[in-house]
Amino acid sequence: MAEPISVVIIGSGPAGYTAAIYAARAGLRTQLYEGIQPGGQLTYTSTVENYPGYAQGVSGPQMMLDFRQQAERFGTHICAANVTEVDFSVYPFVVKADSQDEVLAKTLIIATGASAKWLGLPAEQRLQGRGISSCAICDGFLFKDQDVAVVGGGDTAAEEAIYLANMCTRVHVFVRRGQMRASAIMQQRVMQKPNIQMHWHTEVVDIQGKEEVEGVQVIDRLTQVQTYIPIQCLFVAVGHQPNTSLFSPHIDQDAQGYIRTVPGSTQTNQKGVFAAGDVQDPIYRQAVTAAGTGCMAALEAERFLAATAG
Ligand code: NDP
Repeated sequence: MAEPISVVIIGSGPAGYTAAIYAARAGLRTQLYEGIQPGGQLTYTSTVENYPGYAQGVSGPQMMLDFRQQAERFGTHICAANVTEVDFSVYPFVVKADSQDEVLAKTLIIATGASAKWLGLPAEQRLQGRGISSCAICDGFLFKDQDVAVVGGGDTAAEEAIYLANMCTRVHVFVRRGQMRASAIMQQRVMQKPNIQMHWHTEVVDIQGKEEVEGVQVIDRLTQVQTYIPIQCLFVAVGHQPNTSLFSPHIDQDAQGYIRTVPGSTQTNQKGVFAAGDVQDPIYRQAVTAAGTGCMAALEAERFLAATAG
């Protein structure tokens, strides 16, 4: 096998790319695996308005392209592949990818992010791509001038509802509690849209439609009254699951599957393995915090390499 690589990064969101920028710029041989969704969750976002440095805002995909180009500028080798296995029982670690390549890693930075969660209703998977979506930016346009719905009460749900309200006739928002979890400014924007209809204490209990979504059955959790609401698409925005199954049981995780790191650092329970971004952050989950921890991971990897070489 070829020479071990100093820093291998798994994941291509803000955390992964920032780690790559720092590691490569420090002169370390750096290889980054993009994974199944190059650019990560931000490629599903329309405008990012709260990342410092973009005074006018920037589209999520464009921002990720900027990160990528900056990482490449310092010599990061970017692989369009998905890591399928890591052998933590040997050192250097052995990293295998679906491109059939196998590399040795002196340090590993896990930046695999998190994926959208689903409701778990029987019709949900069957009707994926036919009126069930987790991405308004990707699929909203297909339902222009139609009635759609968003389920969830977080910032993602708010953002999706606002985006959809600009092109769809009516947007129903189903919130399971009497209030949204979204930030105050996002809630305000939702409330200002005349074609967004809020349904509080409401749960989706069934999705109807044979070939395509035709409507949903919802229940008012306070009164137990069920209502049928005709819609052409249901956008599911109920949170995320960290992408960590690949690292079980070697890398410690909490009950939700988020990687545990030593407080104030990105160090995992395994020496030489660091975790950055949403994969280890159930609290902040912002592009800028992900980038910050990506930077930390690269600096810690650099220190680890210096210490083990000495
Ligand atoms: P969150 O975890 O913040 O919110 C998930 C929402 O879905 C909650 O309202 C939750 O309800 C609801 N929910 C969960 N499970 C179900 C279910 N089975 N049925 C119905 N509703 C359910 O996830 P988000 O993806 O919205 O946001 C993740 C993080 O990303 C947050 O920190 C957010 O601030 C950030 N973000 C920031 C943006 C921005 O700044 N522009 C844009 C998008 C995301 P309950 O409240 O009752 O738990």
